[in-house]
Amino acid sequence: MEKMEIQFVDLKAQQDRIKKILDQRISNVLSRGAYIMGPEVSELEQKLTIYSGSKHCIACANGTDALLALLMALDIQPGDLVLVPSFTFIATAEVISLLHAIPVFVDIDPATFNISVQSLESLVSKLEKENKRAKGIICVDLFGQPADYSEILEVAQANDLFVIEDAAQSFGAKYENSKTCAITGYAATSFFPSKPLGCYGDGGAVFCDSDEFASKLRSIRVHGQGSHKYENIQVGMNSRLDTLQAAVLLAKLEIFEEELELRNQVAERYTEGLKDHIRVPLIKKSRTSVWAQYSIMHDSRDQLSVALKAKGIPTMIYYPVPLHLQKVFSTLGYTKGDLPISEDAAGKILSLPMHPYLRQDAQMHIISSIIEGVKN
Ligand SMILES: *Cc1c(COP(=O)(O)O)cnc(C)c1O
Repeated sequence: MEKMEIQFVDLKAQQDRIKKILDQRISNVLSRGAYIMGPEVSELEQKLTIYSGSKHCIACANGTDALLALLMALDIQPGDLVLVPSFTFIATAEVISLLHAIPVFVDIDPATFNISVQSLESLVSKLEKENKRAKGIICVDLFGQPADYSEILEVAQANDLFVIEDAAQSFGAKYENSKTCAITGYAATSFFPSKPLGCYGDGGAVFCDSDEFASKLRSIRVHGQGSHKYENIQVGMNSRLDTLQAAVLLAKLEIFEEELELRNQVAERYTEGLKDHIRVPLIKKSRTSVWAQYSIMHDSRDQLSVALKAKGIPTMIYYPVPLHLQKVFSTLGYTKGDLPISEDAAGKILSLPMHPYLRQDAQMHIISSIIEGVKN
């Protein structure tokens, strides 16, 4: 087949499926008029708590704020060191710098693109030799697969570090006997439209285990408010989730499990068709991925991307520049070669169309076009 117009993410097909309940949910919000912190927000928080198995869910305006609120509640101060993988979206490290703390970049595991436990351990001992100590780690479940939490939590406990899970891409994934957002006691997720569970605008949520910590987060979400609206007990922000977005998420949550199953089928078909021709993603034992992205690795990635585009197949590069080499972090003094695995991944990664409604014929077209593109 020469050309077939394919969507990278198809939100229209999903909307057609949930249109009735979506209209009902939205119309309820409009007739009630409680646009800020309406009942849909707490209904959603409760449902996400049950779904994830976490003790508390605090919905907020976006995933970046969710990470920032966690660092604020953990009392991160200017000059504090926080360990973070270099191969991730800017938000994961940006929130550290926003508080004038310092990101310390860790390399990744070449098999999963998640934080490397080996690199983490060697950085912790390097800091120790310099008489420095980090406060915590932000791990990312990149592309939807949970990081190596058993090993990470061991390193963290031995060195008195908190572990934040950046689950912006992995809400719904499983790790051993837990789901994401209920593994380390501190997690953040995002409901940006293209995430596996996305709304129709910006949205996010924080998850935690401790009651006291949850109250602190609820206060930070609304200007550090105390027992009433005009009592302020700490520095906070304005980061509520819109009632309308909560209503959208409640509608989407009804089909979420089924969509995860469909995403998994799409991923399996890709792997089956591509594994003998190109490097396909690896999911480690005792965990699942929600396939926020299906990413392959190829030496002539840019050339392949152009060839696919000519056949109507959109691809994306997540992420073309590892964070330690981003201009915004240039004052931290990193140079090329410091984190070789992250740099290698940034040069070769390519994400393919991925959504629950990707049809088999479209997928066959993608697979055969990649096989052909790799040969040339
Ligand atoms: C999307 C994303 C975020 C930020 O979420 P927003 O809702 O866009 O603020 C943070 N971390 C990772 C890994 C992400 O993919």
